[in-house]
This record gives sequence, C-alpha cells and structure tokens, in this order.
Amino acid sequence: MNQPTIVVEEYIQAIYALAAHGKMVKAVHLSDKLGSSPSTVHSTLSRMQRDDLILFDEKKNILLSDKGSRLANQLARRHRLVETFLCDHLGIPWQEVHQHAHILEHGLTPLIEEKLYLFLGSPKFCPHGTPFPGEDSALPEKMITLDQVQAGQRFKVILIDESLEDNKELMRYFWEHQIKPQAIHQLSNINIITQSLQLSSPEGETHIPFEVAPKIGVLLL
Ligand SMILES: [Zn+2]
Ligand SMILES: [Zn+2]
Repeated sequence: MNQPTIVVEEYIQAIYALAAHGKMVKAVHLSDKLGSSPSTVHSTLSRMQRDDLILFDEKKNILLSDKGSRLANQLARRHRLVETFLCDHLGIPWQEVHQHAHILEHGLTPLIEEKLYLFLGSPKFCPHGTPFPGEDSALPEKMITLDQVQAGQRFKVILIDESLEDNKELMRYFWEHQIKPQAIHQLSNINIITQSLQLSSPEGETHIPFEVAPKIGVLLL
C-alpha cells in the first residue's frame, strides 16, 4: 500500500481517540468530529477498509485492524513527541502545542521520529501527561481522578486527558490556573449549586466543572 494520506491519518487518529474512551465508533461520530459530510466519510472509510486499516462489525461499528492499530500507535507517538518538542524547545505555549502538533506530526519520517525521540531524552509523557504508547505503566499506580478527591485533600496533578486538549478555552483556563502536570492544589469545596469543584493553591482559586473532573488524573499528597 502507498503511504496513508493525511486525511486517512486523521481518520485513524479520530477512531483511536473515540475508541480510547470505550465508545463504539460509528461513521456519524467521525463526521461530527472531523466536520466532514456523511458521503465524504463513507467514501474515505471504504478506502480504508479496502486498504485493511479498519473493519466493520455486524452493527456497523468501526474497528481498527491490526495494521490500523499499529498506524494509530505510531501517530499517537509522533503527536506526543512533536508536542514535547514544541513545548520544551520552541517555547510554544503548553495550551496550544496540541493544535500545532496536529499539523506537524504528519510530516515526520521514521528517521526524524527516532532522532527526535533521542533528542528529547526518551520522553514517556506528552506535556499534558498522556503516556506514549506502551508507556501506560509509567503513570503512578495510585493515580485517581479529580472527582474522587474529597474536600480538604491536597493533590498533585498528573494527567490532563487527551480528549480535553481540543478545547482551547478550557486549556487556556487550565494554563492560567496551573491545572497541569506537577502542579499542587487543594480541593477546598464541592459546590453542588454551581456543579463545580473549587480548588485552591498559592496562585489562587480555580473552579473545575463536575463533568471535567473525571478527565483529570491526580495523586493525593
Ligand atoms: Zn495532543
Ligand atoms: Zn498532549
């Protein structure tokens, strides 16, 4: 097969990201996520099936084939490498590297990927804390999610779930309030009225909506 096109790579990434949350992936989810018409999605998926990157089950759910999974892992690794490079070496803001990496990652050859990995000192996590493929065990065993923290407890932020990285406003808010790996906060109040968790740190107060809390990994101190 020829090299996959950028469009195909983006579909693979979208399927991988949706499936990572235990979701059954259907064509309609891809058209929502990628902003493509149903007919475009349909014809791209047909090509991907022909090239043995995806399969359909009897309920029309889309599954990655072994070959598709290998490509997805490779793309995830490239994405996290480029994010790390942009953040640590080019000074691109932490909350923006995701968008830039999405463009740059498609241009990496295997040699650049390998050299970049060594140049960066064999990183295990992207700047938002997501482990590289195969490095899941690098996350602390005792990591819990923010919704499991009780009022009064102090914790260190470990992971901002990758699904939140697309939300630019939220990422900027996280950055401004230091909701990022290694930052330390205390859960000062659980506010049922505003449906949010109030955090405090020396830098000030932060409010995290209940719905976002399960997507933030933390370690109790
Ligand atoms: Zn990202
Ligand atoms: Zn990231």
